Amino acid sequence: MSPYGRKKSPSILIAGAGIGGLTTALSLHAAGLDDVLLVEACPNLRAVGAGINLQPAAVRELTELGLAEALEKVAVATARLEYHHRYGGLIWSEPRGRAAGYNWPQYSVHRAHLQDILLSAVRERLGPEALVTGGRLVRYEQDRGQGRPTVRAYVAGRPGPFSCDLLIGADGINSAVRATMYPHEGPPLGNGICMWRGVTEGSAFLDGRTMVIVGCNARVKAVAYPVTPPDGSGRCLLNWVVESRTGDGLDEEDARGGADWDRAAPPEEVLAHLRGWRSDFLDLHGIIAGAPRIGRYPMIDRDPLPGWTDDRVVLLGDAAHPLYPTGSNGASQAVVDARVLAYELAHHDVDEALSRYEAARRPQTTRLLAAHRRLEPDPVLRQVESLAPDGFLDIRHVLPEDSLDGIKSCTRQVTGVDATALNARSSWSVAV
Ligand SMILES: Cc1cc2nc3c(=O)[nH]c(=O)nc-3n(C[C@H](O)[C@H](O)[C@H](O)COP(=O)(O)OP(=O)(O)OC[C@H]3O[C@@H](n4cnc5c(N)ncnc54)[C@H](O)[C@@H]3O)c2cc1C
Repeated sequence: MSPYGRKKSPSILIAGAGIGGLTTALSLHAAGLDDVLLVEACPNLRAVGAGINLQPAAVRELTELGLAEALEKVAVATARLEYHHRYGGLIWSEPRGRAAGYNWPQYSVHRAHLQDILLSAVRERLGPEALVTGGRLVRYEQDRGQGRPTVRAYVAGRPGPFSCDLLIGADGINSAVRATMYPHEGPPLGNGICMWRGVTEGSAFLDGRTMVIVGCNARVKAVAYPVTPPDGSGRCLLNWVVESRTGDGLDEEDARGGADWDRAAPPEEVLAHLRGWRSDFLDLHGIIAGAPRIGRYPMIDRDPLPGWTDDRVVLLGDAAHPLYPTGSNGASQAVVDARVLAYELAHHDVDEALSRYEAARRPQTTRLLAAHRRLEPDPVLRQVESLAPDGFLDIRHVLPEDSLDGIKSCTRQVTGVDATALNARSSWSVAV
């Protein structure tokens, strides 16, 4: 039961209606805190982005928010992760989701489908007036004197600020809330890897539920997985990413654009990195050539912060801890943040809740950030490339099995929670 009671619950403004902001609104509402307003910069929430993965820890939270059925209809329950040589040979295979012992699946899903599910639930449960679109938050101020502190959030083009008891910055990697909290931080940090991404209609490959990472030298890699269940003729949407180290940091255009998810690239630019690659189970070249649109993005993150809270302002999701996409974990961590924050706010006053939220989430996401930066599989993949540049039939003829431990420990470290711990943990749902 909320310590505020329904009438006294704090007024909460969430900046950003991405995966993190929308899940936060739903989690607060489910915890009995429904004086919530979302302010989103985009004038209309269009279907943007490509494939996203939801790790079992996040699927558990979305299930407890009553969204399991909707998710199951649009997503693919990923059962395996495999690493393959660029000539097709299998290097490593491991079970994922339920197949790895979790009580919840891992889902591969189109970001637009996930956002639609969350957005419809917000509109249905909190009402259409809970979301203001076309409202870019530019900065906040707060009264730090005696009495009940108030936050004033300034939104571009609005004459006056929004006043609230708590401002949650869920406004992504280029967060204006974070920039107000840490005005000298500067742009995101690039590691010199460029990613091209797209979604192409194609035939399901392998068992239709496998994510493959192909290429396997440390310079160029490709990732592919289905993000919709196959239709009657085995067709589905395939998400793919090709990444290549093109420099040491951000080029000028990327630095200016931050993480712009909307820069287009022609297929030839991508295919040039995959000359000579072949595989008998996946027509990577065909999938890339057939993509209706290819987006080009730098691989970026930010250094961990010493704190996420400034009195009555707090950061969440990518605004707090942007991660490289290599662990397929950014959206999942935003979902977990949302649930923990709502749980703590329902059980404690705001100051105590924010401090408990940060204590629960900041050390864990700082560890994850470091694990994502280590790009742990790369040394193993480099070794395979140098020992078997022309490919192989059986990886055991190239490397002893324990040489693959780097990959095993990497996937454990980037997902952050093992099946036994997740299955045993008590729920963050609040009895209201
Ligand atoms: C358009 C878009 C497409 C993406 N596509 C992919 C993808 O294909 N694959 C993938 O793995 N990850 C993708 N991501 C990133 C992924 O969604 C996030 O890493 C993850 O879900 C964490 O979510 P988040 O809500 O913290 O941040 P985000 O998903 O980045 O959401 C932040 C939200 O805040 C809004 N916003 C930004 N600034 C302000 C402001 N000043 N005031 C108000 N609102 C603001 C943004 O428009 C956005 O809706 C995408 C993100 C975006 C914004």
